[in-house]
Amino acid sequence: MGEPQLTFRCFFCGEQFENYDPVYSGEYTGTRGMYIGKYMIEACDDVCYASNSDGWARRHEARLITHLTEIGLPIPNRNAEGLLPRD
Ligand SMILES: [Zn+2]
Repeated sequence: MGEPQLTFRCFFCGEQFENYDPVYSGEYTGTRGMYIGKYMIEACDDVCYASNSDGWARRHEARLITHLTEIGLPIPNRNAEGLLPRD
């Protein structure tokens, strides 16, 4: 078990944050970003995560799918909105 990273960068907007707590409890911890295990990405909470509650916007899909393919993760099934699920 290593120390948590001190900074992380939002996958979508590139914003950097100083706080990073891995979120596995399902409980909001007060950090400014979220780690999303299904995609192995980090996203800022106040803009990118909060604004994509119905699923990741289509403009993000190409990068997400490329990322998943590169690291060997499965591409999640689309949700009822026809979007890749956020969590
Ligand atoms: Zn962001």
